[in-house]
Amino acid sequence: MTTISVATNQPKRNKTDLTFTIYDRDRYKILKPVYSVNYSADFPKVKKPSEFEVYANLTDTQLRKAPKTTLEGQANILLKELEREKQERERLYPPVYDRAYVERADFTVTDLYNDIVSRMEWSVIYYLILVIVFGNNALSTYSNVLQWDYYRAERRKWRKCRYKFCLNMFVIEGGNIREQRPKRSDSRYCCEQCRKADYEATLRYQKHGSYLPVSCYVTNTADHIDKYYEAHEQAQPLYKLDRETAKGKAQAIVNKRPRKRKEKPEFKPILTVNISTGKIDYPSENTLYK
Ligand SMILES: [Zn+2]
Repeated sequence: MTTISVATNQPKRNKTDLTFTIYDRDRYKILKPVYSVNYSADFPKVKKPSEFEVYANLTDTQLRKAPKTTLEGQANILLKELEREKQERERLYPPVYDRAYVERADFTVTDLYNDIVSRMEWSVIYYLILVIVFGNNALSTYSNVLQWDYYRAERRKWRKCRYKFCLNMFVIEGGNIREQRPKRSDSRYCCEQCRKADYEATLRYQKHGSYLPVSCYVTNTADHIDKYYEAHEQAQPLYKLDRETAKGKAQAIVNKRPRKRKEKPEFKPILTVNISTGKIDYPSENTLYK
């Protein structure tokens, strides 16, 4: 029977000895928190804290702005390099076009279809009501029921915006279903913004090989996202957050303009006359308007 022994030249690692890390501890320090922890009975101080525990609880800003001489600063440099490499790879072969990216969709072709078809359906219902009420005398009004010829004629009055990321339909002929003022028959865009945006998209294609904005296919760096949050994040009392959650609203991080409250209608007392005595009284005191 043979025994295999593995010879290891490495010294035994002590738990507190962290010199085996790839970073030289004499060269790079670990970042310290700028505040002291307020210990209590619920949160007692550990008698023998580990080395990392002492340096825990750093703020996000402190971590992000860590100087290069610290371990965190060095880690940040590595992360940034990694993210830049990733961004370069993403920029290398960008998607030329993406149907999922839409900038404007206020009145799409589906909306137009719904508008026209619902008017056709209403014409059928109206005809049926006439038949129910007036019987055979109403059969002659069948010619008023809108058919698919009406749909085709109405659809011809509308045109889709030529800008790639706009799904809007605009009208080029008067007397249309929405009673909108028509644009010129040779118009290509629904609005001036779309015309400019289309020109910019073509420029982007010539420069980057993609009609999409760069932010669509290049991931933001963690640093960029952190800065955005830092600039826009707002602390709110818990009851406000609970109320938003109860309403089923997503919690927006961006500052919102305060919504105007509806003014309460002016309270006017109701005049009542007692018919038997002829006495006039103003008895109504609505507590809602107090
Ligand atoms: Zn448009």
